[in-house]
Amino acid sequence: MKLVSTETLLVQIPTRREHKWTGLTEPIGRYLLVRMTDDEGHVGWGEAPALKDWGGEYGRYFGESPSIVRLVIGQYLAPAVADMELANPAELHARMDRVIKGYPYAKAAMDFAYYDLSARALGVPVTTLLGGIFRERVAVTHSIGLLGIEEAVRECAKVAAEGIRTIKIKVGQDPQRDVEIVREIRAAVGNAIDLCVDANEGYASPGEAITTIRRMEAYRLKYAEQPVMGIERLAEVSRAIDTPVMADESAWNAHDVIQIAERRAAEIVSVYTTKPGGLYRAMEVAAVARAAGLLANVNGSVETGVGNRANIALAAAAPAASLSCVVPVSTPADHLGSQIGGIYYRDDLISAPMRLIDGAIEVSREPGLGIAVDEAKIAQYRIAD
Ligand SMILES: [Mg+2]
Repeated sequence: MKLVSTETLLVQIPTRREHKWTGLTEPIGRYLLVRMTDDEGHVGWGEAPALKDWGGEYGRYFGESPSIVRLVIGQYLAPAVADMELANPAELHARMDRVIKGYPYAKAAMDFAYYDLSARALGVPVTTLLGGIFRERVAVTHSIGLLGIEEAVRECAKVAAEGIRTIKIKVGQDPQRDVEIVREIRAAVGNAIDLCVDANEGYASPGEAITTIRRMEAYRLKYAEQPVMGIERLAEVSRAIDTPVMADESAWNAHDVIQIAERRAAEIVSVYTTKPGGLYRAMEVAAVARAAGLLANVNGSVETGVGNRANIALAAAAPAASLSCVVPVSTPADHLGSQIGGIYYRDDLISAPMRLIDGAIEVSREPGLGIAVDEAKIAQYRIAD
């Protein structure tokens, strides 16, 4: 059980419609994939859903792009782990961290491929290597990007009818518009659906965030995600409103979560497979959140099915991830019907669809990261740098 090759390739899959949030400048769906093989012919796949305009507060962490990820993997990470034994993620991360600091998205793509490959070689699901399956189904939050109010209301009514129980609304651009969209969506979906808002640090000040979220509270919010930039400013907002605050841009790794807990900056943290640098690190983040008494969900960057398999594995294995997760319902084109809940793309790179039952994805028990990757689809959507 030895790693024999690591290669990278770039794909672009077509989106169902434009999906935008505050600060985003590049289209989603153009991501770098990692393909690893072992000495027995097994294959493992990873993905870096890297966006150059995504980052942590005050430049503390910063965006990567597919080209940067390709360079970091090709020049540093792949040579550092060449020939290593499988099923030793502690060693994988030690080697990657020794050869280059930072670049968590590049390291995450390597980590997913290594876990996928190791688990396939062992004939077990990746969740077994993460401590086991804690939950059999992962509830899905449908994310409404920055849309016009009418279009957003129509989409929310449809996904609610499909069984989705939590809707996240991107805000953070104009307080008046933001309050109106929450009011209209609440009127359309009724009281049984949980609504959350995500400002992506978009409000100008804690004061603006506090005033705006207080007005939204009349329409019942489950949580308000990253209303402003900075742990101290999040704490200011948290103290002033009744709605729980979720930290996303402020919560990249386990150390950030300790700071958030110490400063009572948020009640909820958004755990990604990518921000801390892979599944191995994400399990640490989730463990710290749990120990600190913070709630968590799994959230991401609208991965293709390749990377979304890692989201589902994390959500299934991490006890802390008790809240509905902002993950796609990855579905190849020939399985697409009229459903749009959790669907952001017109096709996908896995060989079978993720199954949505009562608004939740059924956790795969297949070996590796679950549903097999469709190499013909990858060839179809492969693009040059
Ligand atoms: Mg967010």
